[in-house]
Amino acid sequence: MGPDPGAEPSPGGQDSQRFDVAVVGAGVVGAAIARELARYQLRCVLVEAGPDVGAGTSKANTALLHTGFDAKPGTLEARLVRRGHELLLRDGPGLGIPVEQVGALLVAWTEEQLAALPGIAARAAENGSPDVRQVGVPELYRREPRLGPGAKGGLEVPREGIVCPWTTPLAFATEALANGVELRLDSEVGRVRRGPSGVHRLDVPDGTVSARWVVNAAGLRADEVDRRLGHDRFTVTPRRGELIVFDKLARPLLRHILLPVPTATSKGVLVAPTVFGNVLLGPTAEDLPDKTDTATSAHGLASLLEHGRRILPDLAGEEVTAVYAGLRAATEHADYQIEVHAGERYACVGGIRSTGLSAALAIAEHVVAELGGAGLQLVPKTQVERVRMPNIGEALPRPWWEPGRAAADPDDGRIVCHCERVTKGELLDAARSPIPPRDLDGLRRRTRVLTGRCQGFYCAATVAALFARASGQPVAELLGLPRPSR
Ligand SMILES: Cc1cc2nc3c(=O)[nH]c(=O)nc-3n(C[C@H](O)[C@H](O)[C@H](O)COP(=O)(O)OP(=O)(O)OC[C@H]3O[C@@H](n4cnc5c(N)ncnc54)[C@H](O)[C@@H]3O)c2cc1C
Repeated sequence: MGPDPGAEPSPGGQDSQRFDVAVVGAGVVGAAIARELARYQLRCVLVEAGPDVGAGTSKANTALLHTGFDAKPGTLEARLVRRGHELLLRDGPGLGIPVEQVGALLVAWTEEQLAALPGIAARAAENGSPDVRQVGVPELYRREPRLGPGAKGGLEVPREGIVCPWTTPLAFATEALANGVELRLDSEVGRVRRGPSGVHRLDVPDGTVSARWVVNAAGLRADEVDRRLGHDRFTVTPRRGELIVFDKLARPLLRHILLPVPTATSKGVLVAPTVFGNVLLGPTAEDLPDKTDTATSAHGLASLLEHGRRILPDLAGEEVTAVYAGLRAATEHADYQIEVHAGERYACVGGIRSTGLSAALAIAEHVVAELGGAGLQLVPKTQVERVRMPNIGEALPRPWWEPGRAAADPDDGRIVCHCERVTKGELLDAARSPIPPRDLDGLRRRTRVLTGRCQGFYCAATVAALFARASGQPVAELLGLPRPSR
């Protein structure tokens, strides 16, 4: 344990409102860091601009659990994705995070791509994935009989997986809260000042958050927060990725994640199963000027469908359930921008672009170790609480499947959303959870309600009425309807 430069009055003493550490941004990365910090005797706060945890880029991605086989060797990203994969497989199931190691097949469609495969396999071995191996055309089609014609060869990536993007940040934040972290939602950090004693004062809409250390995990806005802390090391350019979700009836079309040969700027368009039993096609990669532009576009979706027809022609006949877009926090640098400044008691965790879901636990482990090295006193707690989120994945039983549960509580036997088989009991449990949803989007990410093929056409009114009763919010507001005029 290192010394703490410029030691301040201890928390709970002279200044009980002062935190040891403020983590800015409650995406998957900030939530993972808060969870890791919560293992130590520290007073921490997780400060989030939005109304919920994991509602930024973390909710809208491709949800692959990457091994990091194709990362640039020697980069921080390569190391942390590899370690993050290991940690999420270790801790995810205990936290109730749906994870499936379905494996991937990387398919070469041209002679040029075929020629690139040995290099990718060699890079995989360098990145700690020696199990990545080349497969011939007959094996490719034997393992993926619906693959489009014309494949020239491929690589098998056996440990590549899929993970729930919604439960993951919520599980991390819930466990952080169970171990004493305070969560402040609707608290966009504006101006940041440092008092004479070096304490950071973060302006939030309802006042100030004071903390001896600040961790900037603000995702798309990490560059702006970094500048407020006196640095200018990178600029985030949002890189939009659009995706198409196919109906569950498409799920038998494939067994693995079907990856393309990656390019310099993108991992390319892939087809993958989801932990909810759907099939995803995407993402595109397009740099945009606007950090809020998560609209999908006609040209993006058209190009995805064209790729889809090539990879898995039968997908063209399947029904689309939803489309969405997420924004990667790309920067001018080809690696994560993680740096801890001991003298300023500040950690910047930026540029976590297309692999943050996989790497989050390793980023947290790395950042907290660096903070310790920079002088943050890390005294382990004698006891750390564990949480387990209700399973919303397709591979394991949902809570209401438990024998006797519906008999004990009839709400657990009352299906409200028939597409995703979500019960009234699950909705009420979510509404009463430690981090309750504030809106229907939050409820959706906790239960899968409204995400099915009807997209809420049949159940939205019932769901909204139930949730309104449980949360005390007006139904019209939840449904985004205008207030009735008097
Ligand atoms: C299309 C696409 C596909 C992807 N596919 C994968 C994949 O398959 N596997 C994978 O591992 N990764 C994938 N990613 C990357 C992954 O989603 C991100 O790396 C990860 O979600 C980043 O998490 P984060 O916590 O850094 O950012 P975010 O989730 O954006 O969280 C940052 C939070 O900070 C908050 N914030 C911002 N400014 C402030 C402020 N001033 N004050 C307070 N709070 C603030 C925001 O509201 C936000 O909630 C993909 C990304 C995209 C866009």
